[in-house]
Amino acid sequence: MATDPAAELPFFYGSISRSEAEEHLKLAGMADGLFLLRQCLRSLGGYVVSLVWNVEFHHYSVEKQLNSTYCIAGGKPHCGPAELCEFYSNDSDGLVCTLRKPCLRSPDNPIRAGVFDNLRDNMLREYVRQTWNLEGEAMEQAIISQAPQLEKLIATTAHERMPWYHSKIPRQEGERRLYSGAQPDGKFLIRDREESGTFALSLMYGKTTYHYQILHDKSGKYSMPEGTKFDTVWQLVEYLKMKPDGLVTVLREPCTHMIFLPKPTHTQITKCVFLYIYIYIYLFLPLFLPNFVVSNYRPMLPMDCSEFVNPYHDPNDLKKFFINRDQLMIDEVELGSGNFGCVKKGVFKTNKGHTDVAIKVLKSENEKLVKDEMMREAEIMHQLSNPYIVRMLGLCQAECLMLVMEMASVGPLNKFLSTNKDKVTVENIVGLMHQVSMGMKYLEEKNFVHRDLAARNVLLVNQQFAKISDFGLSKALGADDNYYKARTAGKWPLKWYAPECMNFHKFSSKSDVWSFGVTMWEAFSYGGKPYKKMKGPEVISFIASGSRMECPSGCPDRMYALMKDCWTYKHEDRPGFVKVEECMRVFYYSISNKTPPEVTADAAEPLK
Ligand code: AMP
Repeated sequence: MATDPAAELPFFYGSISRSEAEEHLKLAGMADGLFLLRQCLRSLGGYVVSLVWNVEFHHYSVEKQLNSTYCIAGGKPHCGPAELCEFYSNDSDGLVCTLRKPCLRSPDNPIRAGVFDNLRDNMLREYVRQTWNLEGEAMEQAIISQAPQLEKLIATTAHERMPWYHSKIPRQEGERRLYSGAQPDGKFLIRDREESGTFALSLMYGKTTYHYQILHDKSGKYSMPEGTKFDTVWQLVEYLKMKPDGLVTVLREPCTHMIFLPKPTHTQITKCVFLYIYIYIYLFLPLFLPNFVVSNYRPMLPMDCSEFVNPYHDPNDLKKFFINRDQLMIDEVELGSGNFGCVKKGVFKTNKGHTDVAIKVLKSENEKLVKDEMMREAEIMHQLSNPYIVRMLGLCQAECLMLVMEMASVGPLNKFLSTNKDKVTVENIVGLMHQVSMGMKYLEEKNFVHRDLAARNVLLVNQQFAKISDFGLSKALGADDNYYKARTAGKWPLKWYAPECMNFHKFSSKSDVWSFGVTMWEAFSYGGKPYKKMKGPEVISFIASGSRMECPSGCPDRMYALMKDCWTYKHEDRPGFVKVEECMRVFYYSISNKTPPEVTADAAEPLK
């Protein structure tokens, strides 16, 4: 889960009010240039710098821009709150003075979590569970791989879960609810106005109800007439709890929405969820997040595809290793080929329905050795279940031996990138490589080594969803082993292999990390061929001399730094996939608003 980018700063207080900030500054002595940072309750992901000058307080709001940079109105953009504060500690650039002395938080004063911080985790889980019907591991993976997008999606609809939100009720019904029970000043509710798409606030003061329209401007911001603008309704409400902003009083007690409905059935929930997503995606989201949705279209997330869901959902399916021939329809269309034979398109028929599949068909004349290899590949694949790894659905022994896999119809990553250069952004590549790192982290955890990780073996379900394939060379390590030693060298993809593979025939997750670095290089070169015209043995001496491939043009510095970490000569010093995945994730989250790489290159944490 993404933590607040300011969480590490000792002068960050979290979600405290202006007056609380002023109290802290007073206690710390009111020296000129004394400052602290707090969460902004007004703008999503924004902050406020509270600064002392001449025994007076000055508060500057720091907005988080749609491209994920941070800036004080009229100032320069910075890639994070820490960088922003550092900049203003050297240059006042319009502030009353430079930030001279941080007002440090005392140990008994933890960072105060904001309203959304508290809700975010549960909401993400609930949303993914309901929207994509995911549970367990698949749900966790969905959350990790798409957290930035999901958080935005949810933040803008968070009010729907609040006790003060009464959805669409007429003004009179709002009054009736406010008058029922106690009627303290500041009792309030939010309702949808009859004219669709806008909200109203109904507020009790002096036993009278006041109704206000909540304005919703063209850029998607919410506000009271002439009041401060907010990204979301819940933020506006939180702000109005502290400042009247033109209302007769601040908001105090929510008029709780308590209607007891019969428990909805699963189908009702599903229908509601779909309607809600439909309305959200097609009507609201383009208004709220012009940067997130390109021309009114939401890019498909991995969870939108049936391939994300575990086909072994039915526990009985797990037991079946062999598939009956009559469950398969084999197309003439060839998806690809290799030494073993070819991969054909097909359909797998089960009582749950028909699924498109890829079928690895062994040439009938092939000798026993190749057959054994395919059996071993099937045995490995059968033990793996992860959204970012091509799943095996079964093995079929009929006119020939056939390995039936789920279909990744867009095909190998290297080919896709080289033929779609203009369609694929750097952010897209980072997202796909993050998924590959998640799949590899899973393999590492299960003690499997892939031994053939390369862009040609990363298959795409769609432009946003990648899966690792080809387990022909893979090995399951023994519980106490951390490497596999090959007795003899085979037909090996040397350009993807770590020095210890070539020198000592030793393969481990750390050597897969080396291959991951080469795969990253291929991806950021849009399907380029590694080590250009060099032959395998030349590559060995190139690496041994300390040389490494150069940074592909347009590749973010942070990603190139990670590639070089993956190409650490000694496997003991090389990061494992836990670190690699974390590094990919932090960088992916930091640019997930399509920020140009040069702005965010340093946004992620360094790996070492
Ligand atoms: P392989 O020998 O496993 O690398 O497969 C050879 C080629 O067949 C790949 O490069 C892909 O083009 C295609 N292929 C293999 N598996 C699949 C799959 N699950 N879905 C779609 N195409 C596949």
